[in-house]
Amino acid sequence: MKGIYRFINTNIPTMGCNLRCEYCYIRQHGDEDSVLKIDTSKNLFKYSIEHMIKALTIERLGGTCMFNISGSGETMLCPDIVKIVKGILDNGHYVAIISNCTISSVIDELIRFSDMEKKRIFIKASFHYRALKQKGILELYSSNIKKIKEAGIAFSVEIVSSDYVLDDLDELKKYSIENFGALPHVLGGRDETTPGKYGELETKLEKKEFYKIWSSFDSDLFEFQYSEFLKPLDNMFCYAGDYTGSLDLGTGEFYSCPGGMKITNFFEDIEDKVVFFPVGRTCPFPFCFCGFFLQVLAGVGREEYNPKYVFSMFRDRICTDGSTWLNTNIRELFSHRCSEYHEDLTFEQKAYITCLRKQIQTAKDLVSSQAFLKEIIVNKLKSNGIRQIAIYGDGKLGKWFKNMIDGSDIKIKYIVDRKYEENVGKYTANVAEIRDVDVCIVTPFADYTQIAPMIRSKNPTLRVIAIQDLMNM
Ligand code: SF4
Ligand code: SF4
Repeated sequence: MKGIYRFINTNIPTMGCNLRCEYCYIRQHGDEDSVLKIDTSKNLFKYSIEHMIKALTIERLGGTCMFNISGSGETMLCPDIVKIVKGILDNGHYVAIISNCTISSVIDELIRFSDMEKKRIFIKASFHYRALKQKGILELYSSNIKKIKEAGIAFSVEIVSSDYVLDDLDELKKYSIENFGALPHVLGGRDETTPGKYGELETKLEKKEFYKIWSSFDSDLFEFQYSEFLKPLDNMFCYAGDYTGSLDLGTGEFYSCPGGMKITNFFEDIEDKVVFFPVGRTCPFPFCFCGFFLQVLAGVGREEYNPKYVFSMFRDRICTDGSTWLNTNIRELFSHRCSEYHEDLTFEQKAYITCLRKQIQTAKDLVSSQAFLKEIIVNKLKSNGIRQIAIYGDGKLGKWFKNMIDGSDIKIKYIVDRKYEENVGKYTANVAEIRDVDVCIVTPFADYTQIAPMIRSKNPTLRVIAIQDLMNM
């Protein structure tokens, strides 16, 4: 079985949720009524499922990926979920589904998949004990877990460390042992709304008391989060945007990590490869708040962030009867990191990515403080036989790139931008006019998948590359 080359966090447009958990993040943000309302009348996908599946091939993505599918509400309420899972599996990838495991009709369809397909599925079964009890569907949940296990699909039962469930913990533990053969894993509930506390573990308990209660579940997931949650990043080079990222299945937009910036669109130009773009040393956050999968499974920090954990420790349990929650295949996959299947980038590649990202994130002109990079860029172009170029886009990054090249023996023959109404010197709006250049470098990187096909349609022989891809030539 091939390892996970990229872990794609995949957001499916929600159709709402059948539960109302007190600790739901959507409640924290106050838009529960609109987001969790079940409304199946809208088509929330911009592209057809056939188009999306065609875009998500191993060839375009560079290797076998795991698509970690979740909705903002209940994932399995999406009417197309089975078709999407099937399509991704048919492409040769793995699928993880985050679900409250109460939508039996979908689970029944999944367990009818072939054994080969079921071996490549993992279900993260969120166990919302109070909400299930209140709705009278606790038994429905546990019977679905039994069906999943009997079908040979890997799963993990997980609860959130919420103050709301403290009164029920003894009966929750007893129920779990009796029905799932082991205690659930514990995910630290985060505070997303209190100023100054963003991402911290949410509780009114004293730290010591909080730890004592939740460590009684003996969950490595909880231990990891408790000890690593607020670990500073120390200028770490982060590979999110390359080894992992967040895909919005509704639009195809792909972001470097949850809360990070859009870097491309998977569905716009599906004849071309996807250009990934790591974060480098420009993480905008004080700590890696989803490190339990970004660091431990994707390995975004490589050797610079090396906790003693592997992801299978956060998902597996040995049951009272000796069976396990993970099957052999998924345990093996979850015992490695995506980083193991990628070469580390060179010093030059890392420097370029970080400087480029820093320029995106600031209004200041950074060229003078990044002077060392000029030589790296010019040498790269020259070593690829490039002497004359066109720059597409005369915005912040276009100007940054021009300043990097100016003064060298690489000639900028054209600067192309829609804002130029008539051609003056090298400035033009018309890509069809571009002649005698070795390459056209597209600088609005997030829109490359719209711009590149437009350029190719007007100037088919012109070589076009994205600015973020330059050091990969
Ligand atoms: S099941 Fe998930 S989405 Fe639904 S209310 Fe509970 S926490 Fe929110
Ligand atoms: S939060 Fe983590 S994964 Fe995201 S950019 Fe920062 S270090 Fe990278």
